[in-house]
Amino acid sequence: MKTAQHPEQAAEFVANDARAHWHDQALWFVREKRDRMAVSLPEWEQLRDTASQIKLHTVSRMADYLEEFERNATKLGAVVHWAKDAQEHNEIVLSLLKKIDAKRIVKSKSMLTEECHLNPFLEEQGIEVVDTDLGERIVQLRKEAPSHIVLPAIHIKKEEVSETFHEHLQTEAGNNDPNYLTEAARNHLREKFVAADAGITGVNFAIAETGGLVVCTNEGNADLGVSLPKLHIACMGIEKLVPKAADLSVFLRLLARSATGQPITTYSSHFHGPRPGGELHIILVDNGRSNLMGSSQFRNSLKCIRCGACMNTCPVYRRSGGHSYGTTVPGPIGSILAPSRDSKQHKSLPFACTLCGSCTDVCPVKIDLHHELLEWRGEIRKRGQLPISKTLPMKFTSWMMQSPWLFGVVGAIGRWCLRHFPRWAIYHGLNPWGKQREMPESPKQSFRELYQIHESKKASDE
Ligand code: SF4
Repeated sequence: MKTAQHPEQAAEFVANDARAHWHDQALWFVREKRDRMAVSLPEWEQLRDTASQIKLHTVSRMADYLEEFERNATKLGAVVHWAKDAQEHNEIVLSLLKKIDAKRIVKSKSMLTEECHLNPFLEEQGIEVVDTDLGERIVQLRKEAPSHIVLPAIHIKKEEVSETFHEHLQTEAGNNDPNYLTEAARNHLREKFVAADAGITGVNFAIAETGGLVVCTNEGNADLGVSLPKLHIACMGIEKLVPKAADLSVFLRLLARSATGQPITTYSSHFHGPRPGGELHIILVDNGRSNLMGSSQFRNSLKCIRCGACMNTCPVYRRSGGHSYGTTVPGPIGSILAPSRDSKQHKSLPFACTLCGSCTDVCPVKIDLHHELLEWRGEIRKRGQLPISKTLPMKFTSWMMQSPWLFGVVGAIGRWCLRHFPRWAIYHGLNPWGKQREMPESPKQSFRELYQIHESKKASDE
């Protein structure tokens, strides 16, 4: 995965104007579907409040609920493993696969396994991992990372899918018919399901009270993936926990409506222990989450149910594409989670935001996303991770704005420069600001001068 900063990677995406425009429209379409679903439920805001409270409560008693979940899942016959980080998670998966000499794995969509880079880890060990969600399979065949947590191939056009399938699945060249392509993928994946030695799934919700798991998909691929092989490995971040089964009535209603504008996900599969004759292993992964739990500023981000609504509405995400973030989870929530792991590497992400607050408005669990992004900006400055090109002008501006006289002089100079300087003085390669912006026409007078004229006119009229 690329580690360059957001502006450079966004520039690559924006360079293809037609794609950027189409991407923006496609996500806005999903956002509008979500809006229609939200307004169709009179109790929508109440659901959001309740979901937020349940998650906050769970985070505040996380250790107790995790232990309760382990006890109950074990009673049901599952084996619970604890992983402090991605490396430990991957090692546990590998050891389970090695025990049964598994060589072919089918995996349903799991952002946690993406976060842990499980696929390349297992492939290095000679194990074939097939992502069975259609969008994930498309990006996997193209050797790309998902660009969205719910719609992993939203950046790819059907013509490109056709080319990819022609190369890997030997479909007819140039046949872009979505039904034809989906059928080809279905046939291809069925062979993989039948041959699989083990199935790996993510987890949308884990219930402390029962020890059960819920996995939501629209394609039924999680169910098929764990129904045929004997070994089911479920990988979950510890924040996926909810205290009671009744809490699902809140979260399942919010999740699909917020994610894709559906009333409910097509398959909400409940797993309570292993299937007869099979094994269920559940891996509880921390990977930085308990650090977030200890942070009063950013703890709220653990409420996230990964619906993707904040991405669909974000004007920056829609126009810059998910890959520009260089993280597993992109968009507003990704720009909060990534710096909490490595603020130096991801220091540009909190600035990939207009602070419009649209993400906060749509978030089903009421995470104050744009406030947390603003907090991160301050945190990155405090840690001395801002480039001098940002800190120096800000210091100068702060100093200048403390003196009304100096502010007036600099304003007058600025207005004169804008009127008389040649265009290239602003719009040149060294000033990225001017790349896609036009300065407003310079006014002849400052606001203060206009105000004084207005006041003296008012006085003379009286
Ligand atoms: S932060 Fe909120 S809107 Fe964004 S993915 Fe998480 S739950 Fe959904």
